[in-house]
Amino acid sequence: MLSKVIDQSKIDHFAKWLERADKIVIVSHVSPDGDAIGSSLGLWHFLNDQEKNVNVIVPNAFPDFLKWMPGSKEILLYDRYREFANKLIAEADVICCLDFNAIHRIDAMKDAVLASPARKILIDHHLYPEDFCRIVISHPEISSTSELVFRLICRLGCFDEITKKGAECIYTGMMTDTGGFTFNSNNREIYFIISELLSKGIDKDEIYRKVYNTYSESRLRLMGHVLTQMKVYPEYCAAMISLTKKEQSQFNYIRGDSEGFVNIPLSIKNVVFSCFLREDTEKPMIKVSLRSVGKFPCNQLAAEFFNGGGHLNASGGEFYGTLDEAKVVLEQALEKFKPLLTAKG
Ligand code: 5GP
Ligand code: MN
Repeated sequence: MLSKVIDQSKIDHFAKWLERADKIVIVSHVSPDGDAIGSSLGLWHFLNDQEKNVNVIVPNAFPDFLKWMPGSKEILLYDRYREFANKLIAEADVICCLDFNAIHRIDAMKDAVLASPARKILIDHHLYPEDFCRIVISHPEISSTSELVFRLICRLGCFDEITKKGAECIYTGMMTDTGGFTFNSNNREIYFIISELLSKGIDKDEIYRKVYNTYSESRLRLMGHVLTQMKVYPEYCAAMISLTKKEQSQFNYIRGDSEGFVNIPLSIKNVVFSCFLREDTEKPMIKVSLRSVGKFPCNQLAAEFFNGGGHLNASGGEFYGTLDEAKVVLEQALEKFKPLLTAKG
């Protein structure tokens, strides 16, 4: 049995909306990850099977390793089909905002979503949700939005209506946001949910292979290159890796190729904090990814030094300057956070 995480009043409220809604739009964050796509498609399958007119719209492209997901071809990319997407958003009865807590995380879609008269619901697990939705289902203690989507569908009394395809999407989001159940994954109910998803016929081992073992040769060589350049700061129990635009073109970088790199330095004994700095190819900025083990608050460091935020152990941000300047700022951040950077995490 699952505990009742989501308030009954919110479930009832959403159920009422669904009864009357025909046109539903699901939106998720820029540079969508496995949980953004998994939760969106998990909900999409459920609603689509109920004969609703439902569309998933995300700001920009998602990585190739998520393109096998059932329904992924139906996802509308806002940066390519802006006009059509704007029409869907404006005419929607309900907009479901998944896996983000702040409206700026949907980038250029922000104005259209804010301006739409649609009823809006937030389903998310990031801290401190902004106030832009009528129903707010925000649970930072839950490790993925996909898990929340599963819980929501069950509480609507519709477990039986989850299909194998929907289950595959939900499982993918749960798996990717926990690094294959290696962090934020001690809640035993996660494994009850996995068991329920397995009952739908999903092949979890195959999903793992499709997500994590379908990279290109050049991606693996890029990983080797990045790790050779890694800088370790033993006095801060930290490590930093970086990637320039030049290196990206040298290794035929495509979106998603550096996914997961930031976790690798954490496999060094006594490293509890890892930082990945990547020169962005679209905007003049450095994309910052932060990871920690234990209690070190990546999100605080991201907010204070890199215009970002996120979860305790996985955060990100942006730095407006050069890569070398970002490295200097990182070193200042390490000094400031030194008391918290200990081997015990
Ligand atoms: P990643 O390192 O995988 O890009 O991001 C990890 C987590 O950090 C995301 O799930 C999100 O919560 C947070 N995050 C990433 N980039 C940003 C950003 O630019 N701003 C904020 N506020 N959070 C971010
Ligand atoms: Mn997530």
